[in-house]
Amino acid sequence: MSKKILVIGSGIAGISSSLKLKSYGLNPTIVDKGNFIGGRIGTREIKINYNSSYFFHGAQFFTAKTNEFKKIIYTGIKKKYIKEFGNFDPKRYRGNITMREFLLNLSKELNVQQKIKITKVLPLDNKINVLDDKKKEWISYDGLISTPPAPQNYRLLNEFPSLQETLKTGSYHTCIALMFYFDQIPNDLRTYYDFYKKPGILSWMAAGSSLNVWTAHTNEEFSDLNYYKDKNFLKEEIMSSINNFFFRSKIKFHSLHIWRYAKVATKCLGCQIDPKYPVAIAGDFLEGPNIESAFTSGEKAADLIFKRFQQK
Ligand SMILES: Cc1cc2nc3c(=O)[nH]c(=O)nc-3n(C[C@H](O)[C@H](O)[C@H](O)COP(=O)(O)OP(=O)(O)OC[C@H]3O[C@@H](n4cnc5c(N)ncnc54)[C@H](O)[C@@H]3O)c2cc1C
Repeated sequence: MSKKILVIGSGIAGISSSLKLKSYGLNPTIVDKGNFIGGRIGTREIKINYNSSYFFHGAQFFTAKTNEFKKIIYTGIKKKYIKEFGNFDPKRYRGNITMREFLLNLSKELNVQQKIKITKVLPLDNKINVLDDKKKEWISYDGLISTPPAPQNYRLLNEFPSLQETLKTGSYHTCIALMFYFDQIPNDLRTYYDFYKKPGILSWMAAGSSLNVWTAHTNEEFSDLNYYKDKNFLKEEIMSSINNFFFRSKIKFHSLHIWRYAKVATKCLGCQIDPKYPVAIAGDFLEGPNIESAFTSGEKAADLIFKRFQQK
């Protein structure tokens, strides 16, 4: 079957849907507006004494319940681009050495293009026409899988009211990530600190690719209430929490990142594929607030698109 398919988003949902399409003999193109692959599985580079280290300022780890995702993890461990993180039950994993390596290896055989933003999607004569901010001309596809977070997906798919009905049913929590580093790594430092249900504004703090570089995430209550406030105010609030915690060590601020649509609060309900056109949606917003759910939803979208092509 020869079909021209576009996947919007190189997050885990875009990658898993493309891998699944590839397993059916199809060869989709992934485009993403960001500089790097991975979406919310984000990494940011810092050079300390000429050596690169990476903050993991989005997702910190992943878990696996389904056989499909377990297979991905076992392959990654065997090929050394995934490693176990901490000592948890159920087990947690990270990309090795960075989260980006996990995504780059997973997508090795895929056609991924970064720094391209899709601005319009229009159905016409049984084709899906798409406009981006680079070429600025309409390109025609036989099928589309769209994976931005639900509110962004909603705005993009305004010619597909059935999908919009689904997309409007979900909601997200925001998360503020503050990246900081140590010139001198303190003694007895662990690799992460969990503040879940503890007083204060933080939910989690963890090292990135080395013990020098850290990301602190604010909890849902603080993030949802404050994300739109002045960045200096946010920086001061979060830095003072971190300083209280590491009161004996000198920490340095690196940067702040606000994830407006960070974690799914309410999942979307409704159809995943348009009743008329081969346009499907995928992402954590359909299955749950984590990497594995987004992965599963991408595979489901690919199955739906493939079945639709078989029916025609
Ligand atoms: C701070 C934070 C911490 C988290 N911690 C964890 C954790 O520890 N464990 C866990 O399992 N999950 C965690 N999550 C959730 C997890 O990261 C997400 O559930 C998952 O990565 C979502 O993947 P996705 O492919 O659905 O969406 P995304 O990763 O958001 O991918 C969507 C992609 O679409 C692109 N895009 C959007 N609009 C356009 C457009 N118009 N044109 C082109 N491209 C576009 C974006 O650039 C993005 O790359 C965390 C999330 C955040 C933000």
